[in-house]
Amino acid sequence: MLKMLAATTNKNKVREFQEILEDLKDKIEIITLDAIPNFPEIVEDGTTFEENAMKKARESSAFADMVAMADDSGLVVEALGGAPGIHSARYAGEGATDSDRIAKLLKAMEGVTDRRAKFVCAAAIAYRGEEVRIFVGEIKGTIALTPSGSNGFGYDPVFIPEGFEKSFAELTDEEKNAISHRGRAMRAVAGFLREEFEKMDDFEFV
Ligand code: IMP
Repeated sequence: MLKMLAATTNKNKVREFQEILEDLKDKIEIITLDAIPNFPEIVEDGTTFEENAMKKARESSAFADMVAMADDSGLVVEALGGAPGIHSARYAGEGATDSDRIAKLLKAMEGVTDRRAKFVCAAAIAYRGEEVRIFVGEIKGTIALTPSGSNGFGYDPVFIPEGFEKSFAELTDEEKNAISHRGRAMRAVAGFLREEFEKMDDFEFV
């Protein structure tokens, strides 16, 4: 059984990943950061989602001495030059809430007709402090004029995915995961792990 560290404490992300890897549950045990004592804070100082995901995966795998998977995600708004981007979580400063961040975004978008945006998720796998693979998932959409819906988290109430007339927050978890940036990146990770398992009896990354 391979022990794999999902380098997050976000329960939603872990649940989603477990669901996607359901068919490998006899082969991969997913451990989260809660189970790793004294885990050091990892400074997300990269300039891209990919850099941050790779750094988190590398440092987590080295510290825990395990295969590690880490992701970094955010909202990229065309008319704002890509903001909030990698700063999505802290867009309205430390201690701000999802509503504060949405309010700031809608204010910045007041009178803006080009409302194109996308969510991006980079998911990296590392082993012994070395990056093994990185996968990026995206979902295009537009920023709504007002928030709607109460499912999900973050900017979901103001993001209308392409081909839909509802916000992410009006979709069920299942509907969102099927098309979301994170769902796409995680399914690519799962596909890679599945291929590795098919290639060999005993899973080895090196
Ligand atoms: P992180 O990947 O945990 O650093 O999250 C980055 C931030 O991007 C989150 O705190 C949210 O504000 C935003 N974000 C990332 N993915 C989503 C999503 O699926 N829905 C809404 N907001 C998201």
